[in-house]
Amino acid sequence: MFASKISVIVWNEYLHEREDAGVRAIYPDGLHAVIADALRATPAIQRGALPLEVGTATLDQPEHGLSEERVAGCDVLVWWGHKAHHQVSDSVVERVQRRVLEGMGLVVLHSGHFSKVFRRLMGTNCSLKWREADERERIWVVEPSHPIAAGLGEYFELPYEEMYGERFDIPPPDSTVFISWFEGGEVFRSGCCWQRGHGRIFYFRPGHEAYPTYHDANVQRVLANAVQWAAPRVTIADRCPMVAPLETLSDKHRVFSKAGVLQGQGDIE
Ligand code: ZN
Repeated sequence: MFASKISVIVWNEYLHEREDAGVRAIYPDGLHAVIADALRATPAIQRGALPLEVGTATLDQPEHGLSEERVAGCDVLVWWGHKAHHQVSDSVVERVQRRVLEGMGLVVLHSGHFSKVFRRLMGTNCSLKWREADERERIWVVEPSHPIAAGLGEYFELPYEEMYGERFDIPPPDSTVFISWFEGGEVFRSGCCWQRGHGRIFYFRPGHEAYPTYHDANVQRVLANAVQWAAPRVTIADRCPMVAPLETLSDKHRVFSKAGVLQGQGDIE
């Protein structure tokens, strides 16, 4: 009954890497390949951690690589998208949302804040301030006891990143694990956890495609931790059944019509 491994799909729209030589130099096979390799290579350090089985999927594949069968077998979906959110079909978004509500984990990265999947599950605009100016980012670990912070110091830094600043238009997270500070002065809730239905969702801010962020050892540690944390505890399909009572119901003198209106009111004592 208990799972012996975690099945992960790293999803990437995979456009910048094919269109821009600078991005391609950092991620020749796509940033999904680097993330998938990092998940395979980073040893799990959390109590109760399970081995990972990691695959990838991209926008250009049939059903974006997220067929009903593949999503049904997925424990944690990692999502990177930026310029083609609108090209993701609503039926796939619906499928991913349903699976999260059933128990699948979802790890949304960087510009995935504006993905259809994330906005649907948050119910807010998920907008923010941004600036692309090669800034240093200092990522503070504000919940060191959280499983996603395992193995990290008090903070870590990325020498070059895109700035994301508050206000980030999200519902209040269940936990905020990281807060980023940027060279230009802004701050940002850069590691946020939610539960939706039976599924766990983690948003992680770093990962602009023009910088080698997913090659960073601390970032890879966060991703490995996040996948373990987001793995399903239960998988329960949605149902809304009419059910028989568990106990024998007593006879009632009052007679109600289907609309709840008392019938034959003159006869009631
Ligand atoms: Zn970006």
